[in-house]
Amino acid sequence: MTTRRAFVMGHPIAHSRSPMLHGYWLDRYGIAGSYERVDVAPEDLGAFFAAYRESGWVGGNVTVPHKLAVIPYLDRIDEAATKLGAVNTIWWDDGRLIGGNTDWVGFLGNLDELAPGWDRDAKKAVILGAGGAARAAAYALGERGLSVALCNRTASKAEELAVHFGGMSGHGLDALPALMGEADLLVNTTSLGMMGKPPLDVDLAPLKPGAVVYDVVYVPLETGLLKAAKAQGHRTVDGLGMLLHQAVEGFGHWFGQTPEVTRELRSLLIDDIRAKTPGA
Ligand code: NAP
Repeated sequence: MTTRRAFVMGHPIAHSRSPMLHGYWLDRYGIAGSYERVDVAPEDLGAFFAAYRESGWVGGNVTVPHKLAVIPYLDRIDEAATKLGAVNTIWWDDGRLIGGNTDWVGFLGNLDELAPGWDRDAKKAVILGAGGAARAAAYALGERGLSVALCNRTASKAEELAVHFGGMSGHGLDALPALMGEADLLVNTTSLGMMGKPPLDVDLAPLKPGAVVYDVVYVPLETGLLKAAKAQGHRTVDGLGMLLHQAVEGFGHWFGQTPEVTRELRSLLIDDIRAKTPGA
């Protein structure tokens, strides 16, 4: 039996947790495959793709700093990757190399799992931030039919993103309190609150009662924002499941099995985060 080989490529790549989660699924489903870290410096990207076929890769994940740079080497990118301007998953389809983006699927899969029914009557969402994670969240919530407002330190970036997706609004942080009063979902996609970064300082008092609060940051698992939201009686969603759920589609393409995001997998990753980041 041939061993199917998939990769996660980035630079640096040593700290990626993706091998742990794909390794768990390979074991669980008894698949003869591997999922390997590949450190590719930006100047070596051309050589990586020149050797791609001979390397026998069935596909893989792409992370910082290559999510945009890989696009010219692919035969086609899917609708989400086109809209998000970034590729995080590569696979073969009938001899053609395809790039997709599954971050938005991960964003929704996690939200659906940890806050079931959240979208039953949800109409409005507020997203803090306007970077890569904000793009995935905005696209995902737009696809679910929510009205989306983006608030960012650099207001112009939020405004540009709102125009890019269409039908959304972009603001500076000063607009946040008023927008929170009507929001059914508040999402933090900034890096604030992450271990080693400054805390995210948001007064949740104006937030609509019953709103769900989602932080895409997952180190620590329970950020200051989520603690404050819980204390105020809101349902909360941490960011770890976004990482887990975004991986499902790629595994399916490469290994022919749609894997399940289990409690056991989540615990495995939580243990790893806690072991490597004391205090998380
Ligand atoms: P990014 O593209 O660099 O965007 C960073 C965002 O944070 C920008 O909106 C930036 O605002 C804002 N920001 C940074 N420092 C700030 C400060 N001091 N005050 C106010 N705003 C500040 O980063 P990203 O790729 O979107 O990642 C953001 C976070 O999401 C990271 O913590 C990352 O680990 C996490 N993430 C999680 C997942 C997951 O699977 N759970 C996936 C992707 C990302 P400006 O535009 O004003 O600079």
